[in-house]
Amino acid sequence: MGKEQTIVAKFGGSSLADAGQFKKVKDILRRNPDRRYIVPSAPGKRDRSDEKVTDLLYECYGRASRKEEYRPVLDKIKARYQEIIDELELSVSLDKEFQMMEQAFISGAGEKYAASRGEYLNGILLAAFLGYEFVDAAEVIRFDRNGNFEDERTNFFLADRLVNIERAVIPGFYGADDAGNIHTFSRGGSDVTGALVARAVCADLYENWTDVSGFLLTDPGIVDHPKKIDIMTYSELRELSYRGATVLHEEAVFPVRREGISIHIRNTNHPEEKGTLICSRIDPEDEVPITGIAGKRNFVAVSIAKNRMNAQVGFCKRLLEAFDENHIVFEHMPSGIDTICVILPRDVYQEKREAVMASLERLLAPDKISVDEDMALVTVVGKGMRSVSGIAAKFFTALGEAGVNIKMIDMGSNEINCTVGVSNQDFEKAIRALYDALAV
Ligand code: ASP
Repeated sequence: MGKEQTIVAKFGGSSLADAGQFKKVKDILRRNPDRRYIVPSAPGKRDRSDEKVTDLLYECYGRASRKEEYRPVLDKIKARYQEIIDELELSVSLDKEFQMMEQAFISGAGEKYAASRGEYLNGILLAAFLGYEFVDAAEVIRFDRNGNFEDERTNFFLADRLVNIERAVIPGFYGADDAGNIHTFSRGGSDVTGALVARAVCADLYENWTDVSGFLLTDPGIVDHPKKIDIMTYSELRELSYRGATVLHEEAVFPVRREGISIHIRNTNHPEEKGTLICSRIDPEDEVPITGIAGKRNFVAVSIAKNRMNAQVGFCKRLLEAFDENHIVFEHMPSGIDTICVILPRDVYQEKREAVMASLERLLAPDKISVDEDMALVTVVGKGMRSVSGIAAKFFTALGEAGVNIKMIDMGSNEINCTVGVSNQDFEKAIRALYDALAV
């Protein structure tokens, strides 16, 4: 018999959308008793046209706080849970919980409290169905009064609470401050809770169960049936998520990464599929040159030209100051001898155009500033790029042959990514060309 392990399993909203999904979850847990700490989301969509309970909660609270008719929405929410209770024949009643919740809505308990009830109630039902202990996240996930998440306190509270509990359900998405006020992470935040629990119990693995079988090599809306990514590193995941690949909440990586706990993305509806494993390092023999291709439209390139810029001490510092004083985070900063270019999202630029230009003029006295407002960024990510020669040649040949004009090139110095700027209208063409050349 293998050594006992501890696995934390987070199940997303569609994985717990109805009684049928609850049964699938139970089967998955039965198959591996190492899955001991379970983090549920609120019931999600049962089909494309359905509503997420979290969205209904926001709507219901909004109506109640504007003194509008909220009961039909509340009834829909109640019906979602009641259906699960009835079909699973649970001997649990949520009547009291709903009474308290309605009172709290009327007396203005806040949107975050309202949203958190989705996970809270689902957690109660799941714990009852599985026979696991229910641990209210409000007692263990800590925030300060201003709603800032408290990392180390949470770790302490969680570890202390779970150390003597063999099997528990801890609802995702929310926590509380010391006065008992509820705070939530941003949308999709149950992924973060799962990672925090995994860190606190020193898990061997963090499984994230969802409705897809892992990350695809690129956007299936652009390339038909792209390959799946079997394994990647945390840094590759960061690069891909940053550029638009979404499966996991961005913040979910940090708590597990620091402890070297791998994340395994799995599909609740197809548990036989392998999913995507995200880990700290990959053996060289398992490395593939290209892990993924992602991108986003609508960036702006602001180019600053100034003679002998390269010889001026502090030029870059002042350039960064111009963006800093306007609270702008930029994406890339490719440079030449007498020019430097800053790439930032178009909406940010358009909102702060005048102020940024004024700062640049004042701090840099440039010879010329030119702006290209039509840029999409496409990034190819892959740790293996470091060790395989000829990838860059294929990369640029593919774009050239597809007739895509490259406006900007930025290759990270860790060589796990290469980003190009192309015009927005070439965005999809560029992704397809790169996929065909590098991934198949
Ligand atoms: N239920 C929340 C949402 O819809 C949190 C989550 O599912 O992770 O965003």
